[in-house]
Amino acid sequence: MRTEAPVDEKEPVFLSIAEAISALRIDFGQYAPQVSLFMDLCPLVLGPDVRIVNDSRANSLWIATPGRGHVNRMRRISPRDLGRLLVDTLAKSPPAARVMAEICRRTFLVHAAPSGHGSGEKPGVWVHMDMEGFECRQCGRCCRELDYRHEILPLDYENWMALGRDDILERVATVIRGGRINACSVWVEPGTRRFSEVCPWLAPADPKKNSGRWRCRIHECKPDICKQYPGTRKHARMTGCIGFDRP
Ligand code: SF4
Repeated sequence: MRTEAPVDEKEPVFLSIAEAISALRIDFGQYAPQVSLFMDLCPLVLGPDVRIVNDSRANSLWIATPGRGHVNRMRRISPRDLGRLLVDTLAKSPPAARVMAEICRRTFLVHAAPSGHGSGEKPGVWVHMDMEGFECRQCGRCCRELDYRHEILPLDYENWMALGRDDILERVATVIRGGRINACSVWVEPGTRRFSEVCPWLAPADPKKNSGRWRCRIHECKPDICKQYPGTRKHARMTGCIGFDRP
């Protein structure tokens, strides 16, 4: 639950071509296969001669990729493999910044501009996260329905230790390696490693009025993953956040 406006909304973020490809790999892996997007990206990534057909009645995708001086025969490909083919092709033959910017624009639904035209400029993409208009409606959906249990940072844990928040720490399961906290998971029932069914810090914003709005009881020191949600406009759309919808 991100109850304040993102602070960096005016600042574009620079991604090198390799970083942009890594971001694509994460995007393609974190949601269900985005068939329309993948098909849309095919000519940009695989070349204008690629043929891709979505046979929705048979629930299958067919692709013919360009070879040397010819186009290969059509073959069946799963949506997930198509996503992998696109990212692997980009990693093998990184595209020009102009093409990468277009791929980022279509994938992340952001403003993206190429960099690297001028002498000394590193090739890459300037991405504007385009978070304007976001306003958390405190519906609590992200807290109740998204699985962020294993996304807690050791830095979050250290922060709670520094604050002396034993009430929070007793709800964190840790993995310790070499005397250091290697991984954290939340929220467990105190004294056990059993996950709580709902976030224990989620509370009605106004219990007397039953407004349907929720608040975080550890808002001032909640985990970084919660502070950063939703990371992008697309992230909000793909995970059901209504913060960009008009009231
Ligand atoms: S789903 Fe979106 S609008 Fe609802 S509480 Fe989470 S961040 Fe706020």
